[in-house]
Amino acid sequence: MTASIIDGKDFAARVRAKVADNVTTLKEQHGLTPGLAVVLVGEDPASQVYVRSKGKLTVEVGMASFEHKLEADTSEADLLALIAKLNADPEIHGILVQLPLPEHLDSDLVINSIDPAKDVDGFHISNVGLLGTGQKSMVPCTPLGCLMMLRDHHGSLSGMNAVVVGRSNIVGKPMAQLLLGDSCTVTIAHSRSKDLPAICRGADILVAAVGRPEMIPGDWVKPGATVIDVGINRIERDGKTKLVGDVHFDSAAQVAGAITPVPGGVGPMTIACLLANTVTAACRAHGLPEPEGLTA
Ligand code: NDP
Repeated sequence: MTASIIDGKDFAARVRAKVADNVTTLKEQHGLTPGLAVVLVGEDPASQVYVRSKGKLTVEVGMASFEHKLEADTSEADLLALIAKLNADPEIHGILVQLPLPEHLDSDLVINSIDPAKDVDGFHISNVGLLGTGQKSMVPCTPLGCLMMLRDHHGSLSGMNAVVVGRSNIVGKPMAQLLLGDSCTVTIAHSRSKDLPAICRGADILVAAVGRPEMIPGDWVKPGATVIDVGINRIERDGKTKLVGDVHFDSAAQVAGAITPVPGGVGPMTIACLLANTVTAACRAHGLPEPEGLTA
């Protein structure tokens, strides 16, 4: 079997187009421009790249982008004061604090100071609790992107066996909650799991969110399974720097029914879902119907 490729780049472009349509409607019918504020503390080069591309794509879909770049030695009090200001600003519907923060800042405290209704990353403890209890919440962007791709590929996920490898708060755990919400039978595996190959072979849906290059080979994949590779790992091969996932793509693609590539799979969906969450937050803030197909 050779797997079909789930093209995240193309899918993300479609999500952004849908966001842009919703933004146009909000502007024309309600005089409302959704606004996203991104806060970057320090000069981490990878974070700077993410923030730049978030700003560019925010403007491309017609939303207002507000960037706040703070010095690496910004005090917690100053950062919390900025967040309080953004929480109170009616032009801002989404707030994202770029992680990781410098070590002297308490990330949990900072994230939990964002108004949960504007927490477009879905990391606030209220949103985590709402998701865990099956209530309407802001959903973390990467797992939301994975869910959208799975729904698009399969339609209903009900009754499928899903295995999520990785239990982080930003990917593994919310991914498992979303799959449970769509009535999958969910197993969460991690570094202490026994016989990981056997666990993976039971998966109709296998989501890898580990951060270990090509750790999951084709013979861990059930024939016909759908493989979602969240991993982004930089490796040196043949004298070149290359991006690979947590799944060994070439061998897994021989066995799986469908697979996301790295790059061009889950990666582009994350920012698309950030934009989707911002338009959802703007609709909720104004008591308007939520955009179709952009929420969990
Ligand atoms: P974390 O490091 O926070 O979590 C990794 C998880 O993998 C942990 O739960 C860990 O288990 C588990 N793990 C580690 N080694 C093994 C092993 N040998 N066998 C089984 N499980 C193992 O990572 P993240 O969740 O933040 O990210 C995971 C990957 O996804 C990374 O490559 C990251 O770059 C990528 N990523 C991609 C995004 C995108 O936009 N596409 C967004 C976010 C992340 P334990 O808890 O027991 O230590």
